[in-house]
Amino acid sequence: MKIAIVGGGPAGLFFARLIKRSRPDAEVRVFEQNPRDATYGFGVVLAGTARDRLREVDPETLDRLARAMTFSGSQKIGLNGDSLVLTYPGSSGAIARLTLLQILGRLCDEVGVEVVHDRRITGAADLDGYDLIVGADGANSVIRTIWPDAFPVRSHQLGNRFAWYGVDRALKPNALIFRYHRGGCFIAHYYTYADGLSTFVAECDAATWEGCGLDRMTDGQRKALIEEIYADVLDGGRLLENNSIWRRFDARIAERWTDGRAVLIGDALRVAHFSIGSGTRLAMDDAVALHDALIEGGPVAGALDRYVAARRPVRDLFTEATARSYDWYEGVRQAMQTDLVSFVHDFLTRTGRVDDDRLKEYAPEFYARHIAPRRAQDAGLELTA
Ligand SMILES: Cc1cc2nc3c(=O)[nH]c(=O)nc-3n(C[C@H](O)[C@H](O)[C@H](O)COP(=O)(O)OP(=O)(O)OC[C@H]3O[C@@H](n4cnc5c(N)ncnc54)[C@H](O)[C@@H]3O)c2cc1C
Repeated sequence: MKIAIVGGGPAGLFFARLIKRSRPDAEVRVFEQNPRDATYGFGVVLAGTARDRLREVDPETLDRLARAMTFSGSQKIGLNGDSLVLTYPGSSGAIARLTLLQILGRLCDEVGVEVVHDRRITGAADLDGYDLIVGADGANSVIRTIWPDAFPVRSHQLGNRFAWYGVDRALKPNALIFRYHRGGCFIAHYYTYADGLSTFVAECDAATWEGCGLDRMTDGQRKALIEEIYADVLDGGRLLENNSIWRRFDARIAERWTDGRAVLIGDALRVAHFSIGSGTRLAMDDAVALHDALIEGGPVAGALDRYVAARRPVRDLFTEATARSYDWYEGVRQAMQTDLVSFVHDFLTRTGRVDDDRLKEYAPEFYARHIAPRRAQDAGLELTA
């Protein structure tokens, strides 16, 4: 069997490794447009649940990734000068996106996958002769553009703007800081992912973009503004750029997952919004599901149907949760007009998937200290009414 994988991100590389490990006789080739030592972005986070899943499927991959991760079990939430620190029972592991890809690339080499760098796929002719074509080519998938009728896309552009920076400092603790500045609403999401390095995603709502004049600034001026607003948290550090363009998130969803011998996985299928911090995990889980469906055997078409049937319900749930999460950020100006505890509660429950019972498990200290007394007071008021 000849398999072409377009895109050497987490979805493509992990799928390549898994399938080659299970089917050594298959010819597995990954085409990646970037050189081996380059990618977009800075660090990404893999939650404990994502690592548990990896441990089941491929302990060696988890071990190597875990050795390169920086772990944290807490997060500061700041609202206009006030803040509290949440501690979570599970830790999140952050890793440089480039390190993640380099490790996955080496794990591919070791099982005999051919990873071809500096090779951009541009048309169907590049993919002639393959029995299976895996579109793991991210948010701007070329597979979807080569076959637009087979893979129609629903697209919804958000109003908020964001840019993905790094910082030349280990910012501690990980944090999400919501701040008013000259009538604008700004958000900083940051976490340490390596010695002396942090990811820093800056965001503002649509009204801020125009109201504070960011629409008329250069990228350099926008960066300087964020450095000014967050000078205290940057603690003398500078924002680093890696194609750090301010843009609106485009929530693209492919309406179909497969067509003939072609299949989509990862962000090519549905782009994960950074506010749920699960895009890498979803991409790797798609890879596992596609692998599992293929190794059951039989014709490719049947395997692809099994992949869709197994994976679609989970993806639908995440898509719904993702939409609720980015909608919450779109309305952040309104959400910020409350006290810190109500705000944090609102934030933690924004996807509609966290009720009181889940909150007790997820953020036990926060629940015990801030929410349980409120619930007790509400119950007391009901009894006396
Ligand atoms: C600001 C921001 C922060 C994020 N933070 C997190 C986080 O903390 N945790 C998390 O889990 N996720 C995070 N994500 C999401 C995560 O980065 C993606 O969901 C994940 O990378 C998707 O993996 P993928 O393999 O599907 O696609 P990608 O990682 O995008 O990989 C696709 C690959 O395909 C290649 N490619 C594209 N077109 C072609 C072509 N024509 N020919 C050859 N190669 C091609 C690209 O170069 C790329 O390497 C974040 C995203 C953003 C924007």
